[in-house]
Amino acid sequence: MLGCVRATCNMWSRYGFVPSLHLVAATDLLYATDAYLRSFDARVVELTPDGGVILDRTAFYPTGGGQPHDLGTLSWPDGSAATIVEVRKSGPLVIHRLEGALPEIGSAVHGEIDWPRRYALMRHHTALHSMSGVIYELYGATVTGGQMYPDRARMDFLLPDLSQDRLHMIEERTNALLSEGHPVSIRFLPRAEAFQIPDLIRTRVNLIPEGIDEIRVVNIEGIDQQADGGTHVANTREVGLVRIAGSENKGKGNKRLEIVLQ
Ligand SMILES: [Zn+2]
Repeated sequence: MLGCVRATCNMWSRYGFVPSLHLVAATDLLYATDAYLRSFDARVVELTPDGGVILDRTAFYPTGGGQPHDLGTLSWPDGSAATIVEVRKSGPLVIHRLEGALPEIGSAVHGEIDWPRRYALMRHHTALHSMSGVIYELYGATVTGGQMYPDRARMDFLLPDLSQDRLHMIEERTNALLSEGHPVSIRFLPRAEAFQIPDLIRTRVNLIPEGIDEIRVVNIEGIDQQADGGTHVANTREVGLVRIAGSENKGKGNKRLEIVLQ
């Protein structure tokens, strides 16, 4: 039956209509439960009119929550391969944009993630969450945004008074905690249950759209707990050490910190 649906969709797209992507089942997000999965096998379930590839499952992280999308390759049995140049989320679907050939609908494919880049992003992501836990612990300041790159990261938070002393305290406390080796765990909670956890309320779990019934919680044990869709290392020791490379005022009490890892 799905085959008929797809045929109809493709016919529509040939006539210039947008295919009914809502008929495609949600992509199974392999990275959400196993951040260390570097390669995987999947099947092509749909192609979008602009050449995007939708798989039944993927380990490629789509841009979101301040973490950039993964890069990597997709290959399929006839020997073809293409480079992944963009991965984005569209509702419950993950859309991969490729450079090179396109696989056919129904084709089996093999995905390989650019692992050194992804692992660097995971280390920076866990570093930012840890630091946000420290800034709250020390000064009660809440984070308003963050952005990771493979070689640095930045974080915005509400703290009117940020002296050199405080910067030094934040760096020192973060590094002390990271080197203690706290485990990082992922769990999924029903929305109502997640709303009872004080840490999650602090990090604005209430901003998660109403339709989402299950909340993914990243817990850096003893340091920080947040509703988050990103990929993290399994233990804070993997982050290494954080160095605050710069800070600036972003207005209205907002501060921005830039960090690098060592
Ligand atoms: Zn995050």
